[in-house]
Amino acid sequence: MEDKILFTIGRQKRIALIAHDGKKKELMEWCMKNKEILSRHFLCGTGTTARMIADYTGLPVKGYSSGPLGGDQQIGARIVEGNVDFVIFFSDPLEAQPHDPDVKALLRIAQVYDIPIANNRATADFMITSPYMEAEYEHEVINFGKQVAERAAALGK
Ligand code: PGA
Repeated sequence: MEDKILFTIGRQKRIALIAHDGKKKELMEWCMKNKEILSRHFLCGTGTTARMIADYTGLPVKGYSSGPLGGDQQIGARIVEGNVDFVIFFSDPLEAQPHDPDVKALLRIAQVYDIPIANNRATADFMITSPYMEAEYEHEVINFGKQVAERAAALGK
């Protein structure tokens, strides 16, 4: 079995949108500015962010639970399942968050699965204008099946 397996991020991305309260307005404006591009992809987000973007832009945005109530964890789980492959997360670096461990967990799982994730506007601008937005993108991810088999074998000795 190979150590890595090839995953494909399709032409139509499954984009998760999240903004902390101090950044919600900025993300709404960013979504409006990029409405045409975003309309070609599937959008979801944490509860309040998703609702506000849908109301403001008219784009369909599937809403999960609110971030502090587990929404970030739900989006992390969608990454693990392969159902979210692109994340715009405007976190607020100047405000303490009650769900900081969940935020860290989401960043970590995005790294594990090699998912593009923007934490600020400049990164989001670079990502949304990338030629990969209109193309498939192949990337290598750890072969978790092999990992499990090896760990189970090693730890069972
Ligand atoms: P919200 O959650 O969109 O429900 O506000 C975002 C967050 O604070 O993580």
